[in-house]
Amino acid sequence: MKLSPEEILIRWVNYHLSRSNCGRRISNFTTDIKDSVAYVHLLHQIAPPDAGVTTLPEHVSLMSETVPSVPVYWSSVFLSPPGWRQAKSMLKRVDLSLSTYTLRLSRKDLRILIGLLTGHADLNRHLTLIKVRSDPLCPLCQQEEETAFHLLARCDAISLTRLNHLGLYRIEYNDLYNIRWSFLLKLAKASGRFL
Ligand SMILES: [Zn+2]
Repeated sequence: MKLSPEEILIRWVNYHLSRSNCGRRISNFTTDIKDSVAYVHLLHQIAPPDAGVTTLPEHVSLMSETVPSVPVYWSSVFLSPPGWRQAKSMLKRVDLSLSTYTLRLSRKDLRILIGLLTGHADLNRHLTLIKVRSDPLCPLCQQEEETAFHLLARCDAISLTRLNHLGLYRIEYNDLYNIRWSFLLKLAKASGRFL
């Protein structure tokens, strides 16, 4: 049996949805993911356990027996909980094209992107926090702790790479969310820190 790439992806999503016991399955990438519920459960399944990704807002909505609109849903996911500073710096508004883009990534790229969004990337600051490394400094520039923000926005050692990919030497914190995730992912990979 030969499956199209989309059918394979739907199988992959449904496999993770079945593990989440959420009762949802999808048969397409349009109407079935419109309310983001399946998407949130998928993210919850594939995010690293320590990334702080929860499905809590859905439980809140079930208790109130209302189906929140997509904007309300996403604001409850991303904007209400305290913390998640990193994710909030890159996601300020509802954009379903981001869901579609994210679902089409390879598992490796998705892992990198989620790491960048949540701050739980395989970079020295996070690895030091979880006691895998002992030095949080950026190995490329040795100037600052290596956070996702440092790598994407500040690190001087890759400022030319940043200029080539984004047209900018550096990125201000408040401008980060204006940059497409696909560009951020390309920059992160071009840095050589996610080989
Ligand atoms: Zn650096």
